[in-house]
Amino acid sequence: MYFIANWKMFGVLNTLNTLHKFIKFFRKFKKKRFAKIIYCPPNTLIRPMSKKLKNISIEVGAQNCHENENYGSFTGSVNSKMLKSVGAKYIILGHSENRQSGDTDKLINMKIKSALKANLKIIFCIGETISEKRKKATKRVLEKQIKLGLKSIKNKKQILIAYEPVWSIGSGIIPKNKDLSETVNFIKRKFKNNKVLYGGSVNSKNIDQLKLVKNIDGYLIGGASQDTKKFIDIIKKTYN
Ligand code: PEP
Repeated sequence: MYFIANWKMFGVLNTLNTLHKFIKFFRKFKKKRFAKIIYCPPNTLIRPMSKKLKNISIEVGAQNCHENENYGSFTGSVNSKMLKSVGAKYIILGHSENRQSGDTDKLINMKIKSALKANLKIIFCIGETISEKRKKATKRVLEKQIKLGLKSIKNKKQILIAYEPVWSIGSGIIPKNKDLSETVNFIKRKFKNNKVLYGGSVNSKNIDQLKLVKNIDGYLIGGASQDTKKFIDIIKKTYN
Protein backbone atom coordinates (compact mmCIF):
# COMPACT_ATOMS: atom_id res chain seq x y z
CA MET A 1 0.00 0.00 0.00
CA TYR A 2 1.17 3.50 -0.84
CA PHE A 3 0.79 6.34 1.66
CA ILE A 4 1.64 9.57 -0.10
CA ALA A 5 1.74 12.80 1.88
CA ASN A 6 0.86 15.90 -0.12
CA TRP A 7 2.01 18.83 2.00
CA LYS A 8 0.83 21.33 -0.62
CA MET A 9 2.14 24.87 0.08
CA PHE A 10 2.60 24.16 3.79
CA GLY A 11 5.78 23.73 5.76
CA VAL A 12 9.03 25.59 6.36
CA LEU A 13 12.43 24.28 7.38
CA ASN A 14 11.62 23.66 11.04
CA THR A 15 8.49 21.70 10.06
CA LEU A 16 10.92 18.94 9.16
CA ASN A 17 11.46 18.30 12.88
CA THR A 18 8.09 16.55 12.88
CA LEU A 19 9.71 13.88 10.69
CA HIS A 20 11.68 12.53 13.67
CA LYS A 21 8.45 11.28 15.16
CA PHE A 22 7.50 9.59 11.91
CA ILE A 23 10.95 8.04 11.43
CA LYS A 24 10.84 6.68 14.99
CA PHE A 25 7.44 5.14 14.35
CA PHE A 26 8.41 3.73 10.96
CA ARG A 27 11.64 2.10 12.14
CA LYS A 28 9.65 -0.01 14.58
CA PHE A 29 6.57 -0.52 12.42
CA LYS A 30 6.07 -4.28 12.00
CA LYS A 31 4.21 -4.05 8.69
CA LYS A 32 6.78 -1.73 7.17
CA ARG A 33 7.54 -4.00 4.24
CA PHE A 34 3.92 -3.67 3.08
CA ALA A 35 3.87 0.12 3.24
CA LYS A 36 5.48 2.48 0.75
CA ILE A 37 5.76 5.99 2.17
CA ILE A 38 6.34 9.03 -0.03
CA TYR A 39 6.48 12.59 1.27
CA CYS A 40 5.76 15.37 -1.24
CA PRO A 41 6.71 18.67 0.42
CA PRO A 42 7.00 22.11 -1.21
CA ASN A 43 10.05 22.36 -3.50
CA THR A 44 12.05 24.30 -0.89
CA LEU A 45 11.99 21.27 1.42
CA ILE A 46 12.83 18.51 -1.06
CA ARG A 47 16.60 18.61 -0.54
CA PRO A 48 16.62 18.85 3.29
CA MET A 49 13.84 16.29 3.54
CA SER A 50 15.58 13.74 1.33
CA LYS A 51 18.72 14.19 3.43
CA LYS A 52 16.76 13.47 6.59
CA LEU A 53 15.17 10.39 5.06
CA LYS A 54 18.36 9.06 3.47
CA ASN A 55 18.83 6.05 5.71
CA ILE A 56 15.26 4.91 5.86
CA SER A 57 13.08 3.57 3.06
CA ILE A 58 10.89 6.66 2.72
CA GLU A 59 11.02 8.56 -0.54
CA VAL A 60 10.45 12.17 -1.48
CA GLY A 61 8.40 13.60 -4.32
CA ALA A 62 7.58 16.97 -5.85
CA GLN A 63 4.11 18.40 -6.45
CA ASN A 64 4.34 19.92 -9.94
CA CYS A 65 6.86 21.07 -12.53
CA HIS A 66 7.25 23.16 -15.67
CA GLU A 67 6.57 21.15 -18.81
CA ASN A 68 9.85 22.05 -20.50
CA GLU A 69 12.41 19.30 -20.06
CA ASN A 70 15.27 21.66 -20.89
CA TYR A 71 16.50 24.65 -18.96
CA GLY A 72 15.23 28.00 -20.22
CA SER A 73 13.92 31.47 -19.59
CA PHE A 74 10.86 30.59 -17.54
CA THR A 75 10.94 32.92 -14.57
CA GLY A 76 9.79 31.34 -11.35
CA SER A 77 9.60 27.82 -12.79
CA VAL A 78 11.37 24.58 -12.00
CA ASN A 79 11.58 21.60 -14.34
CA SER A 80 11.58 17.91 -13.55
CA LYS A 81 15.33 17.53 -14.05
CA MET A 82 15.94 20.15 -11.36
CA LEU A 83 13.55 18.42 -8.96
CA LYS A 84 15.31 15.12 -9.57
CA SER A 85 18.67 16.77 -8.88
CA VAL A 86 17.59 17.83 -5.37
CA GLY A 87 16.34 14.38 -4.40
CA ALA A 88 12.81 13.93 -5.74
CA LYS A 89 12.00 10.41 -6.88
CA TYR A 90 8.30 10.99 -7.54
CA ILE A 91 6.15 13.84 -8.79
CA ILE A 92 2.44 14.60 -8.43
CA LEU A 93 1.00 15.76 -11.76
CA GLY A 94 -2.54 16.63 -12.78
CA HIS A 95 -3.63 17.61 -9.27
CA SER A 96 -7.03 19.30 -9.41
CA GLU A 97 -5.67 22.42 -7.68
CA ASN A 98 -3.27 22.80 -10.62
CA ARG A 99 -5.91 21.84 -13.20
CA GLN A 100 -8.03 24.65 -11.74
CA SER A 101 -5.18 27.10 -12.18
CA GLY A 102 -4.54 26.27 -15.82
CA ASP A 103 -3.07 22.79 -16.23
CA THR A 104 -4.87 21.38 -19.27
CA ASP A 105 -4.77 17.69 -20.22
CA LYS A 106 -2.29 18.59 -22.95
CA LEU A 107 0.00 20.42 -20.56
CA ILE A 108 -0.21 17.59 -18.06
CA ASN A 109 0.74 15.16 -20.83
CA MET A 110 3.84 17.28 -21.60
CA LYS A 111 4.74 17.43 -17.90
CA ILE A 112 4.39 13.66 -17.53
CA LYS A 113 6.64 13.09 -20.54
CA SER A 114 9.29 15.48 -19.24
CA ALA A 115 9.16 13.92 -15.77
CA LEU A 116 9.53 10.41 -17.19
CA LYS A 117 12.58 11.59 -19.15
CA ALA A 118 14.03 12.89 -15.89
CA ASN A 119 13.45 9.43 -14.43
CA LEU A 120 10.82 10.48 -11.93
CA LYS A 121 7.90 8.24 -11.03
CA ILE A 122 4.54 9.85 -11.63
CA ILE A 123 1.56 10.19 -9.32
CA PHE A 124 -1.02 11.11 -11.95
CA CYS A 125 -4.18 12.66 -10.44
CA ILE A 126 -7.56 12.39 -12.08
CA GLY A 127 -11.05 13.10 -10.79
CA GLU A 128 -14.44 14.55 -11.58
CA THR A 129 -16.01 17.75 -10.23
CA ILE A 130 -19.28 17.72 -8.30
CA SER A 131 -21.27 18.91 -11.31
CA GLU A 132 -19.75 16.18 -13.49
CA LYS A 133 -20.68 13.65 -10.81
CA ARG A 134 -24.25 14.96 -10.70
CA LYS A 135 -24.46 14.62 -14.47
CA LYS A 136 -23.26 11.01 -14.09
CA ALA A 137 -20.25 11.89 -16.24
CA THR A 138 -17.56 10.50 -13.89
CA LYS A 139 -16.42 7.64 -16.12
CA ARG A 140 -16.41 9.76 -19.24
CA VAL A 141 -14.34 12.46 -17.49
CA LEU A 142 -11.83 9.97 -16.08
CA GLU A 143 -11.49 8.18 -19.40
CA LYS A 144 -10.74 11.48 -21.14
CA GLN A 145 -8.23 12.57 -18.51
CA ILE A 146 -6.41 9.23 -18.78
CA LYS A 147 -6.49 9.20 -22.59
CA LEU A 148 -5.20 12.76 -23.03
CA GLY A 149 -2.89 12.82 -20.02
CA LEU A 150 -1.13 9.64 -21.10
CA LYS A 151 -1.29 10.25 -24.85
CA SER A 152 1.56 8.52 -26.72
CA ILE A 153 3.20 7.31 -23.51
CA LYS A 154 4.02 3.67 -24.07
CA ASN A 155 5.77 2.64 -20.91
CA LYS A 156 3.34 3.24 -18.07
CA LYS A 157 5.20 1.20 -15.47
CA GLN A 158 6.46 4.33 -13.69
CA ILE A 159 2.97 5.81 -13.38
CA LEU A 160 0.57 5.50 -10.46
CA ILE A 161 -2.94 6.84 -10.81
CA ALA A 162 -4.49 8.75 -7.93
CA TYR A 163 -8.26 8.94 -8.20
CA GLU A 164 -9.17 12.18 -6.44
CA PRO A 165 -12.77 13.32 -6.83
CA VAL A 166 -12.51 17.12 -6.77
CA TRP A 167 -15.56 17.39 -4.49
CA SER A 168 -13.83 15.23 -1.92
CA ILE A 169 -10.53 17.12 -1.64
CA GLY A 170 -10.42 19.06 1.60
CA SER A 171 -14.19 18.76 2.09
CA GLY A 172 -14.35 15.93 4.62
CA ILE A 173 -16.65 14.03 2.25
CA ILE A 174 -15.59 10.70 0.78
CA PRO A 175 -17.31 8.54 -1.85
CA LYS A 176 -19.47 5.59 -0.86
CA ASN A 177 -17.41 2.37 -0.77
CA LYS A 178 -19.48 0.77 -3.51
CA ASP A 179 -19.02 3.74 -5.85
CA LEU A 180 -15.33 3.99 -5.04
CA SER A 181 -14.72 0.31 -5.68
CA GLU A 182 -16.57 0.50 -8.99
CA THR A 183 -14.65 3.60 -10.11
CA VAL A 184 -11.29 2.09 -9.13
CA ASN A 185 -12.17 -1.06 -11.10
CA PHE A 186 -13.10 1.08 -14.08
CA ILE A 187 -9.74 2.91 -13.92
CA LYS A 188 -7.88 -0.38 -13.57
CA ARG A 189 -9.57 -1.71 -16.69
CA LYS A 190 -8.53 1.40 -18.64
CA PHE A 191 -5.09 1.58 -17.12
CA LYS A 192 -4.02 -2.03 -17.25
CA ASN A 193 -1.88 -3.50 -14.49
CA ASN A 194 -1.10 -0.24 -12.77
CA LYS A 195 -1.66 0.84 -9.21
CA VAL A 196 -4.64 3.01 -8.41
CA LEU A 197 -4.69 5.11 -5.25
CA TYR A 198 -7.50 7.07 -3.69
CA GLY A 199 -7.21 10.69 -2.50
CA GLY A 200 -9.72 13.08 -0.96
CA SER A 201 -10.24 13.78 2.74
CA VAL A 202 -8.59 10.55 3.92
CA ASN A 203 -8.22 10.80 7.70
CA SER A 204 -7.68 8.66 10.77
CA LYS A 205 -11.45 8.27 11.26
CA ASN A 206 -12.68 7.36 7.78
CA ILE A 207 -9.73 5.05 7.07
CA ASP A 208 -11.65 2.20 8.79
CA GLN A 209 -14.33 2.56 6.14
CA LEU A 210 -11.97 3.19 3.22
CA LYS A 211 -9.80 0.19 3.92
CA LEU A 212 -12.77 -2.05 3.18
CA VAL A 213 -12.39 -1.09 -0.48
CA LYS A 214 -9.96 -3.83 -1.37
CA ASN A 215 -8.97 -2.81 -4.88
CA ILE A 216 -7.33 0.43 -3.70
CA ASP A 217 -3.51 0.29 -3.70
CA GLY A 218 -2.95 3.20 -1.35
CA TYR A 219 -3.86 6.77 -0.48
CA LEU A 220 -2.81 10.30 -1.44
CA ILE A 221 -3.30 12.31 1.72
CA GLY A 222 -3.36 16.10 1.94
CA GLY A 223 -4.57 17.78 5.16
CA ALA A 224 -4.14 14.78 7.47
CA SER A 225 -0.57 14.13 6.30
CA GLN A 226 0.59 17.47 7.67
CA ASP A 227 -0.06 16.22 11.21
CA THR A 228 2.39 13.41 11.92
CA LYS A 229 0.19 11.75 14.54
CA LYS A 230 -2.78 11.65 12.16
CA PHE A 231 -0.61 10.34 9.32
CA ILE A 232 0.76 7.59 11.57
CA ASP A 233 -2.76 6.68 12.74
CA ILE A 234 -3.93 6.29 9.13
CA ILE A 235 -1.08 3.88 8.41
CA LYS A 236 -1.51 1.89 11.63
CA LYS A 237 -5.27 1.57 11.19
CA THR A 238 -4.91 0.42 7.58
CA TYR A 239 -3.17 -2.72 8.84
CA ASN A 240 -5.26 -3.31 11.99
C1 PEP B 1 -4.94 16.29 -2.02
O1 PEP B 1 -4.87 17.52 -2.11
O2 PEP B 1 -4.31 15.57 -2.82
C2 PEP B 1 -5.79 15.71 -0.99
C3 PEP B 1 -6.10 14.46 -1.08
O3 PEP B 1 -6.17 16.58 0.01
P1 PEP B 1 -7.06 16.22 1.30
O4 PEP B 1 -6.57 14.90 1.85
O5 PEP B 1 -6.81 17.35 2.24
O6 PEP B 1 -8.47 16.13 0.84
